[in-house]
Amino acid sequence: MPKGHEEETGREVLPEAPVIVLDHVSKAYDGFSDNHALEDVSFRIDKGEFVFIVGPSGSGKSTLIRLIENEIDPTSGKIYVAGKDLSKLKKRQVCKYRRSIGIVFQDYRLLPDRNVYENVAFAQEVIEAPKNKIPKEVSKMLTLVGLSQKFKSFPKEMSGGEQQRVALARALVNNPMILLADEPTGNLDPQNSWEIMNLLEEVNKRGTTVVVVTHNREIVDVMQKRVISVLNGKIIEDKKGGYDVG
Ligand code: ADP
Repeated sequence: MPKGHEEETGREVLPEAPVIVLDHVSKAYDGFSDNHALEDVSFRIDKGEFVFIVGPSGSGKSTLIRLIENEIDPTSGKIYVAGKDLSKLKKRQVCKYRRSIGIVFQDYRLLPDRNVYENVAFAQEVIEAPKNKIPKEVSKMLTLVGLSQKFKSFPKEMSGGEQQRVALARALVNNPMILLADEPTGNLDPQNSWEIMNLLEEVNKRGTTVVVVTHNREIVDVMQKRVISVLNGKIIEDKKGGYDVG
C-alpha cells in the first residue's frame, strides 16, 4: 500500500516515523575542519517519501548518498536510519545494513560477464536468499522494469536505458526499505530518463522511500516532489516544488 508523508488514523493524523535522519552532519574528506564537503547538514526523510537532492557539481550530493549508504563516516554529527545510529553498527551489521539499501548509479555498474538474469539474481545470492525462491523474485523484478524478455542478454548487448532498468531491478530485488539513486538518468536521453523516473515513482508508490540525486531540471520541475537543494556543502532550500525552489 502506498505510504504518504502522513497517514490518517481516525481523527488523528500521525506522522510517519523518520526513516533517514541527519543530525548536524559534517564531512571533511581530508579530516581538516575547514575543508568541508558537507557542513552542518540536518534533515529527516519520512517513510514513503520521494525526495530529490539537487545542486551544482561538487556541492556535496554524492557525499550525502555515500553517508546514508554508510560507505563513508561523517566527520561529525549523527546519521540514523530506521532508528539505528549508523556510527554504532558493528562491521558485520554494516554489511547487512548496506545490503538492506537499494542503490543505482549513473553508470549502471552491472557485472559485464553475467546476463540480465544473473545480474539481478546475484543480489539475492549475496543475501543468501533461498535458492528455490530466487527465480521467482528475479522474474518479478524483470517484469516490473519491462525486461522479462531480455533475461538472457548481456549488458553490452543492451541500451543505456535497458541497463539502467536492470540495475534498478537488481537494486529492488531484495525489497529494500530505501532506494538511493545517484544521477540515475545522467547518461540517458529524455525518453529513457522518463522511463526510469516513472519506475522510481512506481517503486515509491509501492512503499519504498526513494532519494534521487539529479541534475535533470525538467524532471524535477514536472514531478513536483520534495527538493533538497545543496550548495557548497550546505542545504540552502528544502521544500516541495521544482528545481528552482525558493
Ligand atoms: P556532488 O555529488 O554534488 O558533485 P560530491 O559530494 O561528489 O559533490 O563532492 C563534494 C566535495 O567533496 C567536492 O569538493 C569534492 O571535490 C569533494 N570530494 C568528493 N569525494 C572526495 C574524496 N573521495 N576525496 C576528497 N574529496 C572529495
